[in-house]
Amino acid sequence: MAGFQGKSVLVLGGSRGIGAAIVRRFADEGAKVVFTFAGSPDAAERVAAETGSIAVRTDSADRDAVIARVRDSGPLDVLVVNAGFALFGDALEQDPDEIDRLFRVNIHAPYHASVEAARHMPDGGRIIVIGSVNGDRMPVPGMASYALSKSALQGMARGLARDFGPRGITINVVQPGPIDTDANPEDGPMRDLMHGFMAIKRHGRPEEVAGMVAWLAGPEAGFVTGAMHTIDGAFGA
Ligand code: NDP
Repeated sequence: MAGFQGKSVLVLGGSRGIGAAIVRRFADEGAKVVFTFAGSPDAAERVAAETGSIAVRTDSADRDAVIARVRDSGPLDVLVVNAGFALFGDALEQDPDEIDRLFRVNIHAPYHASVEAARHMPDGGRIIVIGSVNGDRMPVPGMASYALSKSALQGMARGLARDFGPRGITINVVQPGPIDTDANPEDGPMRDLMHGFMAIKRHGRPEEVAGMVAWLAGPEAGFVTGAMHTIDGAFGA
């Protein structure tokens, strides 16, 4: 496959899980891929070595560092914002600083990265943000901050689609359900609860999410923007 030959792709959060699968997919298809990491330098080094991509440390909680990273990556054909995390726990007990950090990584970074990318992208560029089915449905307690952060991406994509549409730049949100990663291993304690909500009773694979991202970044998806694309085994149906 060489669908992205010569294309310049930046993946924010590409050292592990879904992000690493996205890096692999674009690299396999011939793209020049740069990806960021924060806490997993060894994993980042492995992904870079295996794919011929470039790993750079950039903490998505640091707004100015994210903006500089996007700017310094040059004109991007594709930006993928994948870095994100969840906090679990009683909303009445959670540390407000931790909640604010989650908002910086899961909401602020996607917004500022998307706007900065659009400043430099050629017409027809693609922006894809990894949200969650929890932006639509939150069937368990203790994850309100995460649900808030992922539904915020929906409003962002709808709005920025209007701003960038005249240049043919699309922005879309991919909303996974349970995907087998370090953050949500299929053999973890939540497995049966999560599968109980689903029509296809298994975790998705990071490669399945990467496939949807690649389609949205490809030539068939030029008319798709401001939209949410759920890939969740009907978790949210
Ligand atoms: P993992 O925890 O397995 O991987 C997270 C990736 O994001 C790592 O590469 C990590 O890099 C990077 N990352 C996290 N925080 C930062 C940060 N502050 N700065 C830079 N990079 C960062 O998570 P998943 O692969 O499971 O999740 C990826 C995305 O998919 C997230 O946005 C998540 O919310 C979303 N998602 C996941 C689902 C799932 O079931 N797995 C379901 C729905 C949505 P490093 O380790 O180097 O810091």
